[in-house]
Amino acid sequence: MFAVNDLKVLISRDQIAYRVAAMGAEITRDFAGESIIFVGVLKGAAIFLGDLARHVDLDATFDFIGVSSYGNRPTPSQELQHGWDSTGEVRLTKDVDQSMRDKNVILVEDILDTGLTLTYLKSILLAHKPKALRIATLLDKPSRRKKPIQADYVGFSIPDEFVVGYGLDYAERYRNLPDICVVPRG
Ligand code: 5GP
Repeated sequence: MFAVNDLKVLISRDQIAYRVAAMGAEITRDFAGESIIFVGVLKGAAIFLGDLARHVDLDATFDFIGVSSYGNRPTPSQELQHGWDSTGEVRLTKDVDQSMRDKNVILVEDILDTGLTLTYLKSILLAHKPKALRIATLLDKPSRRKKPIQADYVGFSIPDEFVVGYGLDYAERYRNLPDICVVPRG
């Protein structure tokens, strides 16, 4: 584990608040007069979803979906040394609670990295035949992409660093840090 003092702030709570408000305004404009469902990806997107949704002035409901990677998930320290490398085999641990048929769905994720997770989730949600499906991600690491997927709403593009805070964890910790911080690669 790390002392919080070892973590370098990459994006401050003020920068996050400003950007998340702007993303909420954009979604409000894009779906004016319509209802939407936010589908948050557990657990990392929970804090972002909570803040984003409060800046969306539309009739809205929440749902959550859960995933985990099969097999070779690196230990937290391997993850830091080599960067996160999911195997590509993503598994559903919690499905949505309702049909998304003919609904406007905003899939809310903490970070878009290789793109494997969102590619998998997008195909699952598209099978519901929603009216519209959009992806909102707080962070994007475009340099790490393995699948050609893009988000419709992106908070910040960041370099290939391992980050924690504002919902993002290292071995389940640090999700409650208000700023987004870089963990030193050691
Ligand atoms: P992808 O399938 O796009 O490679 O990975 C997405 C998932 O990898 C995210 O939802 C997150 O759980 C994890 N991830 C990728 N990069 C980071 C990072 O810098 N920090 C943390 N805490 N998780 C990350």
